[in-house]
Amino acid sequence: MRRLAPGILAVGLLVAACQGTEPRAGNEAPVAAPGTVTTSTIPREVTTRALDPRPGAAGIGDPLYPGLGNGGYDVVEYRIDLDVEPEMGTVRARTEVEAVALHDLSSFNLDLVGMEVRRVEVEVDGVRSPAAWRRAGRELVVEPDEAIAAGSTFVADVTYEGIPAPVPERAVPFAPGWRKVGDTIYVFDQPDGAAGWFPANDHPRDRAAVRLTVTVPDDVVVVSAGERTRRKVGAGRVEYRWVVEEPLAPYLLPLGIGPFEERSEPPAGSIPVTTWFDPDILEGLLDPFRRQGEIVQFFAERFGPYPFDRVGALVVEDDGLRAALETQEVSTYTSGSLAWGEAVVAHELAHQWFGDHVTVARWDDIWLNEGFATFSQWLWLEHDVGRDAYDRQVDRAYRVMSGLDRAESAGVSAGEAARQARRAFPPPDHPRADQLFTPSVYQRGGLTLVALRDLVGDEAVFDVLGEWVRRFGGGSATTEDFIALVEERLGTEAAELVRAFVDDPQIPPMPSRGLAPPG
Ligand SMILES: [Zn+2]
Repeated sequence: MRRLAPGILAVGLLVAACQGTEPRAGNEAPVAAPGTVTTSTIPREVTTRALDPRPGAAGIGDPLYPGLGNGGYDVVEYRIDLDVEPEMGTVRARTEVEAVALHDLSSFNLDLVGMEVRRVEVEVDGVRSPAAWRRAGRELVVEPDEAIAAGSTFVADVTYEGIPAPVPERAVPFAPGWRKVGDTIYVFDQPDGAAGWFPANDHPRDRAAVRLTVTVPDDVVVVSAGERTRRKVGAGRVEYRWVVEEPLAPYLLPLGIGPFEERSEPPAGSIPVTTWFDPDILEGLLDPFRRQGEIVQFFAERFGPYPFDRVGALVVEDDGLRAALETQEVSTYTSGSLAWGEAVVAHELAHQWFGDHVTVARWDDIWLNEGFATFSQWLWLEHDVGRDAYDRQVDRAYRVMSGLDRAESAGVSAGEAARQARRAFPPPDHPRADQLFTPSVYQRGGLTLVALRDLVGDEAVFDVLGEWVRRFGGGSATTEDFIALVEERLGTEAAELVRAFVDDPQIPPMPSRGLAPPG
């Protein structure tokens, strides 16, 4: 994600994660051996074993946001079906959440904020029945008829309706989620706004495939990720289907509903590139999107192959939120973010590797997304404009992060400037819960990789970043994973440098650039 923070350069954004450790459908040993009779007339425990059911946890275990996500199951696929009246903003919806139980479940939670729930059914082993449910804050607690055995695949089928709304969240200075602006609806869900429009395990650690069906008036366009089909479904209505095969974190599912036009851009090799945009946006502001394919190819040469089948941009008219978000395959940009030009486009495209393909296991690892994307946008600047532009950008970021800029302004001593900078820009690893996207996460996070590059050179730094994507792509990772990889590939000195940049209260010096904190 990318936002503007006061007093600093542009700031960037978001992330996702997946579980490398939790079982997934298809490789999970069934509880009942093949051939065992398990029908609705024979209780499961008779044919297999006595269950020891307990409720799934109300949170997935994120240290920064303990309430986010849920425990006890791993989602395989969301099948989201929305019937939308864009003018009124009303939605009639049904979402099937297909998941695998990780322990015997007496009940489980889904995240859902707002909306009126009408009905919940649970299907286990092909047997479907109505389930008891209750709302508790952001949680939808579902109690199936019978306990669900560990390893079973089950489907929670939730019918609901209402006018979705943004979800208040302390992590960011705006309410993430479903946004209706004029004749446009779109979502900006980081970190946990997805729960405002579909029941989810709304945490980056649990990624899942998505089948999204949206029915709208036939003069309205729906944009999302994956393979698209469109068909008429009656008088004046059309149905869009989007199939996302590559599992994603709920907050990374793009959605735009509005009067969008579609433009094909020069491809990234064989990968098609599409921009969807509000026709009210000045055409000149869309110029940077022409270069998406070129930017993707530039990053692919350094980080390894582009991880998805498509590249795209959804550009919405919204002056109330100056931000962009790296929604998978099709990043989302508000009109306010276009002032950042190619920098924001490069930033969001880099996130497809760092944030979308490799996701964070915990939200406080967010610098792994934002620092990497910031470094990447500087690399693109260097490639496109020149080494001097890169060096100037690095120098400016260091001066802000260290307090050098304050020391040079009248009336602030070197020691006081350094002290103020330490307070304003704490180390990027483990940011505060109410300041997830602090400028340090972006700028000092990006400087971490600049310092590593200065120490070991291009070949070694891109070797590590490529290995990072190969090893953790499709899964989630932590700061400790990155430092361990740096140590393995580049040695102790490099690992200690990274740790100092992300953890020390004071930003370390960058001697080869003649930069050190004031005082
Ligand atoms: Zn970002």
